[in-house]
Order: sequence, then structure tokens, then C-alpha cells
Amino acid sequence: MPAASSPCLRVALPLPLPRLFDYAPPPGAAAAAGDVGRRVRVPFGTRELAGVVVAVGPPESSAELRQALAFVDPVPLFAGELFDSLGWLARYTHAPLGEVLATALPAPLRAGEPLPDTHAWAWALTEAGATGLASLRAGARPRRLAELLQAGPMDEDRLDQALEGWRPAARALARRHYADRVAVPASAHPPAPQPGPLPNPGQQAAIEAIAATAGFAPMLLEGVTGSGKTEVYLHAIAACLARGRQALVLVPEIGLTPQTLARFRARLGVSVHALHSGMADGERARVWAAAWRGEARVVVGTRSAVFAPLPEAGLIVVDEEHDASYKQQDGIRYHARDFALVRGKALDVPVLLGSATPSLETLHNAQAGRYAHLRLHQRAGDAQPPTVRILDVRKRPLQAGLAPETLHAIEAALGDGGQVLVFKNRRGYAPVLLCHDCGWSAHCPRCSTATQGTPMTVHAGGGRLVCHHCGHRQARPPACPDCASLALQPQGIGTERLEELLAERFSDWPVLRIDRGTTARRDGLARLLAELGERPGILVGTQILAKGHDLPNLTRVVVVGVDEGLFSSDFRAGEKLAQLLIQVAGRAGRAQRPGEVWWQTHHPEHPLLHALIQGGYGSFARAELPQREAAGFPPFAHLALLRAEAQQADAAAAFLHAARDILHAALPAGRAPEAAIALHGPLTAPMARRAGMYRMQLLLSCGHRPALHACLDAVLPAIHALPQARRARWSLDVDPVDLY
Ligand code: ADP
Ligand code: ZN
Ligand code: ZN
Repeated sequence: MPAASSPCLRVALPLPLPRLFDYAPPPGAAAAAGDVGRRVRVPFGTRELAGVVVAVGPPESSAELRQALAFVDPVPLFAGELFDSLGWLARYTHAPLGEVLATALPAPLRAGEPLPDTHAWAWALTEAGATGLASLRAGARPRRLAELLQAGPMDEDRLDQALEGWRPAARALARRHYADRVAVPASAHPPAPQPGPLPNPGQQAAIEAIAATAGFAPMLLEGVTGSGKTEVYLHAIAACLARGRQALVLVPEIGLTPQTLARFRARLGVSVHALHSGMADGERARVWAAAWRGEARVVVGTRSAVFAPLPEAGLIVVDEEHDASYKQQDGIRYHARDFALVRGKALDVPVLLGSATPSLETLHNAQAGRYAHLRLHQRAGDAQPPTVRILDVRKRPLQAGLAPETLHAIEAALGDGGQVLVFKNRRGYAPVLLCHDCGWSAHCPRCSTATQGTPMTVHAGGGRLVCHHCGHRQARPPACPDCASLALQPQGIGTERLEELLAERFSDWPVLRIDRGTTARRDGLARLLAELGERPGILVGTQILAKGHDLPNLTRVVVVGVDEGLFSSDFRAGEKLAQLLIQVAGRAGRAQRPGEVWWQTHHPEHPLLHALIQGGYGSFARAELPQREAAGFPPFAHLALLRAEAQQADAAAAFLHAARDILHAALPAGRAPEAAIALHGPLTAPMARRAGMYRMQLLLSCGHRPALHACLDAVLPAIHALPQARRARWSLDVDPVDLY
């Protein structure tokens, strides 16, 4: 055991404790500065953990140190920019560095497995094979395979396409020593790039503006739906590749479709590495490793792909930058768009944020001149903007929520050979099951309190009840539990109920329901849409359909139930509704045929709807910003939300009251007004209970970001140490998106 005074490893462990842990270096090793960024296995209590060396130096205390077991990595896994950026993220989110580093890694690497191999396998003809080939039976698979390999080694991906049943044939060749399996670099055989459409003048200007940047340059590409933003990304990425640099593209959870990947692959002529939550852990680790080695030249992925190492970075693109899926809602609550900007700055590369409906944060930054603002005003090619009309459904007889005019419009569109999208942001059959005789309704036992009931959604044609918040399910009761009446009625409309009505009413046409129920598998949606093809028919769906699919024959969009977001208490509700309405409308008329969009509403005079129709998203958003400023909401104020939940409501409250006392004591008097921190709460969360836990929150808001962070830095050690913290589960969310 080395003497306590010799340098030790200061290790960040994936534990919810805001500190580092000192260890003596593993047997046979001395701690050196070059160990920083290496993963190391250490004993912790009776367990063994994998952590990351973040510093080397004298131990914090004079107590005898435990010895690390072994280094995992021969060289630092975290180095340079990524290590520094993750350090920044830990400070910004006020989260333990060990947890942040663990979050950045795919599961196998987090667990301490070595960086996986990333080479691909190929087959090559041996000399014996080249000469002996003629002796193989003509026309048989081994002979055909040997003939294919005469031109040179072929990797297994290409063999899959070139010769069905090649694997047994390859084994047969190997037995004769006619062929060998050899390791080749992952992207040895890129497909040839395919040309895209000629950029229009708007696209060309954007492409040139991006090409003219040097170093870090944040840019907003604001382009109406179908304006060809993806084409601009593709040009920028191709230029980045031509400079010998890597590109990272973030796409929203529902935007990463096989169609998107195929388009990138075909156009760029390099292999495109996907990173998303639907992939097996081992595959994610391989892609991460390929990025780390610089082999992955283009990485396209969802939220957590923002942690991909980019040793040769040249460009970061965030598509649909406004999308809510970029915000991580548990664990380390990072925002992938914001972290992409931090990384772009550290890497000194341009960051391109694209959207038809930019977030107010991003729009504000562009208006303030902090981001370059590129615009595409027109749809690309021959496509025309869809016409949008408001349909007043007050006093109209509705069938499954649809007005007679809507049904006629659907019929007309189908008759013209077009496709129709009926949008309803509610899965299941109906959102509520109500007793018509006594007023009882089915509430989730795990998400309801004495004063706030959370209705369970009716599913499976009415047979099952499911809670969309905690997943709790139960059979539909045969009779009302309160009054024994049999008059239990599903209330309200979900996609299942719409599908039922439309299938019955339009039985000559296919009706496809598209929601998380029918597209559980990632390629499920692609298969359903391929099955429909360009035939006339109806798609009934949730916002899964709002992004990522080009449906050239979609001529009509009907939005059922616009009203749900119009009167919400969430200060972002208007922004979210406007984005959703514009994105869904943007599905219509993306090719030659014009599109028409109908918004059904009981509030036809609502100013939000009129602002959108008259001036589009841009004028809505520009009117919304001053209101946010007047009300002191983001992007003009900065928020941090302290949440607590516990099985007993008073345990959550006790923790937050104690935390508020600490905050009060720490708030210095006499600050400049913009640096003053306002505390709101503790209050019951808008959703008072979920999955058995009572939920409370304490909101901090401040006009001056550094002041807010300084305050959090000052109080968090004391909050961590509160005895009440042991009786509640608590978390801090900096820049919360949902205040639910
Ligand atoms: P966005 O990303 O803005 O929604 P896309 O890049 O997907 O738009 O383009 C929408 C459609 O228009 C696609 O089918 C695309 O192939 C086509 N398109 C894009 N740019 C052009 C262009 N310059 N000329 C013709 N068609 C184009
Ligand atoms: Zn009843
Ligand atoms: Zn529930």
C-alpha cells in the first residue's frame, strides 16, 4: 500500500453524492496526471463500482486510502473538450460529476466494460482460393461467392445484399482455405452519394452563410414546414465532411425514422451512425466508440447523442430545436439543444438550430443578435403552403368529436384520391369513464389525492382502464362502484374511438391508427405507412405523425380538439399549442397537390388561432415574447425548480420548507433588482400525486443567471445535508421545461 502522502486518484463515482472519492492507485501503478479521464474500478462499501479519474493529487484526508482495483482504459476515455463540457454540465445542473459522466456513456461503458471493437468484418479470397476457384461447381453458392470476392474483399453488410445464403458458402470456402474472414475499418466501403435537388435561392443563401462561418457560430435556420431545411443540413454536412471533419445531427425522438436515416445515407455517401434509445446497448456502445475513434463521420441521434465524442468535430445540427424531447426529464436534467451549443462553443464549430416553430428562447437569442438568423420563407419545389381554416363546432352535432362538415370534407378528399390525417393528441378510446347516474368517474388509485382525481383512460374499445401517467391498468368495472348503476359511459375522444367511427363510416378506404399503441417498435410506423403507400385513406394519430414523414399524397389535415391547450395555466402552453398546430398542419400538401387544414374548435375567436392563421408562427411568437417579458417568465427570467416527492405528503412538504428556510437565509438583501431571486412555494405540484408519490415543488426565479447559480452553489450542500432529505426523493431542475 503506497504511503498516504503520495498522489492519489480522485475518482468521480456514479452516486448521488456531490463529492469525489480518493483511492490509492491500483496494484503496480503510480498515479500520474495522464490518468485523468481514465475509468477505474474501485471498491465501494461491499460493492465494486466503475468511476472516472478526474484529478490526481494529494488525498483530502490523512485516513488510510482504499486501493483502486484496476484501470479499465489504457488511455483516457474522457479527454479534452468532452471532459471539460461535461464538467460544465455538472456545474450547470448542480449534479454530481460522477452521475453526469455516467449519463454521457452508453450502459456497457457506464458499467465499466472496455471500449468495444468497432471494425467491421469482411471476407477475402486467399491465394489458394484465387487459383482453386475453377474447381468449384459452377453455379453453386461457394463458386458464386468466390467469384464475387475476386474483385476484392467484401464486408458482410454488402454480402447480405449481394448474395442470399452467403454465410454457409463462406464457411465452405473457409474449410478449404479458399477464403478468410478479415477485420476492416467500419466505413471501408461507403455507398456513392446521390445528388439532391438543386437548392433554391433561399436555401443557397443559407448554405453559403453556413459555409462562411469560421469557428463557433450559433445559427437559427427558421424555415416554414417543407421549406427544405433538411436539404440545407445535408449541404452543410457534406461541406463539413469535405473538410475532413465529423458532423453530429440531433433529431427529436419521433423524427429519427428509418426514412430519415436512409435519406442521410443516400445523400452523403458515407456510413451514417445512428444513436437512439431503441438500439441494443452493445450497439450504442459500438457507435459511441466509433465516434470516439473518429471512425463515425456522421452521427445522427436523439437526445443522448449529444454526448457523442467528436475528436474531429466540424458541425453540430439540432433539427426541430423546439422539440420537448430534447429535455431530459429525470436523472441529470440536461437540455440537449443547450448542451449542443455549449459543446459547439468549446469545439469552436458552428451549431445550426433548425425549426419551423422555434422555441421562444432561441427566437429571443436570434432577435438579440446572439445567433445568426437564416430564414426560408417558402416551401421548396412546387409545394404550396396549406390553407388553414377554423371550424366553429359550437352547437354542431358531433360524432366521435367530428362535425358533419368535417366528415364531408374527409369524404371529398378521399373521393379526390387524397389521404387525410385526423389528429387527436389523446391515445386510447376515451379519456374518462363516467357514471351517468351518480357522476362517479374512474380515477387512478396511484395518481389521485383526496382533492385531485387523475382520470384513467379507457382503452381496448372500452374494456380496459389505463393510467397514462403511471401505467397502472385495470379491467373496466362492470358496474359503478358507488351506485351499482350499469350506465358507465366513456366520455371524450381518443384515437381509438376516432378510428372506430372512421372505419365504420369510410369502410371503402383503409383507416390506420398511428400512436404509441400501434407503433411500439421503431419501424412500426414506417411499415404501416409503406403498407398504405400513396393510396387514398385515413391516418388517425397523435403527434407521432407531426414530424419526420413526407406523405406526398396527404391533402387534408383535421385537428380534433384544438381547445385543450388554449386555457392551460402553464406559461408555455400557448407556445406548445402553436408549435403543434403548425407542425401538424405542415404535414399537408408537401408535394404537388395543395393541402387544406381544418381546426375544429369551440373557441373560434381565440386570439392564438387568429394570430397563427393571419401571420403564421412567426407573428404569434413575436407577439408572445413581450408578454413573457411583462410576466417575468423565460426567456426573460431564469428558473430552477426544486421538486420533492414522498409517499407521505408531509414528508415532501417538510423537506421543501426546510430548503426554503436555507434559501431565505442565503438570499442577501440589497441586490440589484435583476439579480434578486424570487421564491414561489413550496406548493403542491400541478400533478399532486403520481405513481403513489405525493409531489411538491419550490420554484426559484431570477433575472440574472449567474446570481441564480451562485445562490444554488451556496445552498445546495446544506440542502443535501438536511435530515428531511432522507424522507423525500428530491431533485433540482435547472431551466425546467415542464412545471407539471
Ligand atoms: P423541411 O426539412 O424544411 O421540412 P425537406 O428538406 O424535408 O424540408 O424538404 C421538403 C421536401 O421538399 C422534400 O421532399 C425535399 O426533397 C423537397 N425539396 C427540398 N429542397 C428542394 C429543392 N430545392 N427543389 C425541389 N425540391 C426540394
Ligand atoms: Zn354511479
Ligand atoms: Zn396513475
